[in-house]
Amino acid sequence: MRATEFLPDVQRVLEERGEPAYRLKQIYFALTNSLVRDWDEATSLPKNLRAALSEQIPAASLGLETISRATDGTRKYLFRTHDGHAIETVMIPEKGRRTVCISTQVGCPMACKFCATGLLGIKRNLKAREIAEQVFVAARDIAPDGDHVTNVVVMGMGEPMLNYKDTLLALKVLNDPDGFGLAARHIAVSTSGLIDKIRRFADEPEQFHLAISLHTPFGDEREEIMPVASRSSIPELMDAARYYVKTTRRKLFFEYTLLAGVNDQPRHVEGLAELLDDPLYHLNLLRFNWTDTGFSATSKRRAREFLNEARDLGLSATLRPSRGQDIDAACGQLAAKDLRGRPAIPMIGA
Ligand code: SF4
Repeated sequence: MRATEFLPDVQRVLEERGEPAYRLKQIYFALTNSLVRDWDEATSLPKNLRAALSEQIPAASLGLETISRATDGTRKYLFRTHDGHAIETVMIPEKGRRTVCISTQVGCPMACKFCATGLLGIKRNLKAREIAEQVFVAARDIAPDGDHVTNVVVMGMGEPMLNYKDTLLALKVLNDPDGFGLAARHIAVSTSGLIDKIRRFADEPEQFHLAISLHTPFGDEREEIMPVASRSSIPELMDAARYYVKTTRRKLFFEYTLLAGVNDQPRHVEGLAELLDDPLYHLNLLRFNWTDTGFSATSKRRAREFLNEARDLGLSATLRPSRGQDIDAACGQLAAKDLRGRPAIPMIGA
């Protein structure tokens, strides 16, 4: 049963108290569907059980410290884990969608050169409950506006494939019709390119989407900006990509952050056109949001040219608008300031 895996500590308390088995299901529903963050809100449970749970296990595994709001409607949530780490989550409103970008690790060990989170190293993996709860909090936050979470992308802090088991369990709970109930096709995981995990993910029965962070079509250049590239060559990465589309018949997204003078020249477009040779491949271009990593953003004009050149060469491609810049809400900027011991972003209103 998914609830047992997701809430092992709650299960233990229920067993110690000799509670009937259906209580776990009630609690799972309260947390994942009714989105309670305090046991007193779980009114389907008897008062004495709520009191016992309150004494032993907090209903919320993450403390919500601040919510920052950008002028474009993007919201950033700063959480504190029970052991004092800061993690962040972003909610991006866009054309009727409400996409929540979640973190799977505190920090990240992949050390991508353009990523502020990557420079910090890894503190620990997040538990499934800590991963899923980021979505629950965003859903609760936007509910008073009549909004609901329509999409989840696992593109925040961390390499999700290095926390495979807990990430997948969290996504199954988000997808569970008896839990949060978000369709699998509205959930996407992004990896820096761990090829054994790409194959494993392809073999999972759930129809979650996958994105691979590519950032350049050339192996030597990729190694310079993404140390993970030294583990597997571009041909090995593309073998795993082919396995994914052949196995799932689903679209495969390639993330490409445009860095001025690094990966935004015509030869890069040509390299991409050679590499992305399957109709199910889709190129997602993104302009770099500034971090103090020594890189700078490709101009808007060059980014649009790059997109047009890619399309002219037959690629399926889009240029994603940068969102939440005034609250540092881009991938690789999450919790970076806080983890470095600088003041957290000022709260505009929680
Ligand atoms: S870009 Fe993603 S995978 Fe790379 S270091 Fe940053 S968080 Fe990790």
